[in-house]
Amino acid sequence: MEFRLIDRIRERTAQLREDVRLGIGDDAALLTVPLGQELAVAIDTLVGGVHFPHDTAPADIGWKALAVNLSDLAAMGAAPAWALLALTLPQVDPARVDGLAEGFAQLAREYGVALVGGDTTRGPFCLSVAVHGFVPPGQALTRAGACVGDAVFVTGTLGDAAGGLRLALGERPFDPADEAHRMLRARLDRPIPRVRAGLALRGFANACIDVSDGLLADLGHLCAASGVGVEIDADALPLSPASCTVFGEGPARELALAGGDDYELCFTVPPARIAAMQAALDGQGCRVTRIGRVVEGQGVSLAGGGPAPQRRGWDHFPG
Ligand code: ADP
Ligand code: MG
Repeated sequence: MEFRLIDRIRERTAQLREDVRLGIGDDAALLTVPLGQELAVAIDTLVGGVHFPHDTAPADIGWKALAVNLSDLAAMGAAPAWALLALTLPQVDPARVDGLAEGFAQLAREYGVALVGGDTTRGPFCLSVAVHGFVPPGQALTRAGACVGDAVFVTGTLGDAAGGLRLALGERPFDPADEAHRMLRARLDRPIPRVRAGLALRGFANACIDVSDGLLADLGHLCAASGVGVEIDADALPLSPASCTVFGEGPARELALAGGDDYELCFTVPPARIAAMQAALDGQGCRVTRIGRVVEGQGVSLAGGGPAPQRRGWDHFPG
């Protein structure tokens, strides 16, 4: 039965890449690593009820499991190539497997990512995806490297996925006829990894991280890795009209600071490279907003000394 499930996944995710010498079906995949490139690898696990609401459609779960991983590669400035999928299911459920595989494949096709193997086991519903990508030596964007005086930027808008989660959890009744509600829920269920923006930032950004746990929490990691502080202009945070309409501007700003799951890129750029960086990202059709500056010290503070919000992002092991 396990093998029939694997076949269903393989049929739905077929993606040709010349560097895949042997994909799904043997004991291991055989892959040709391009000469002179560094391999960037990442893995992320999604657990039902923790990383997505239990009523999430299988196709959305499959999409998101790959999206959160491609976001990690994007944050490194790496070009994605291969993925592995470890799937744990409570029972044989072909319809669920088909949905997962189709959502996964939709996103994989967009970025030319080949699913080259995985594992299928019985147990509480959970998916792990591992991804591999390439980056020229020395050009990866890491969390370290932010310099005092750099400007801090973020792609897209922040807080939408956290707004979508509030709707999904019924803290605010979800109205499927309301376009703003649908947009926020889509930001939660189908995040779009900023792969092209990450590639375009090579050579411009001093440090970069993707916003998965919340801006304050993730910028805190960047600060710690770089040995600097960051001052945020809360008024400058890019909010979507949908979030402001549904929650009001003040709460939308709180969601943007502390809410997770946006998968935007947050990065620092020295003043001399800002204009060229902006031109490069405009070329990708990617909006960027300047939200603060790198300062001496440590940790994230709000310009004007505004009160720091209480929730500082998601932590699986609080305390
Ligand atoms: P083994 O027992 O040798 O690890 P498996 O029976 O687990 O082999 O897997 C058989 C083949 O199917 C392998 O190539 C493996 O990578 C692939 N595979 C298993 N599960 C998945 C999955 N969920 N997604 C993609 N490939 C899978
Ligand atoms: Mg196996």
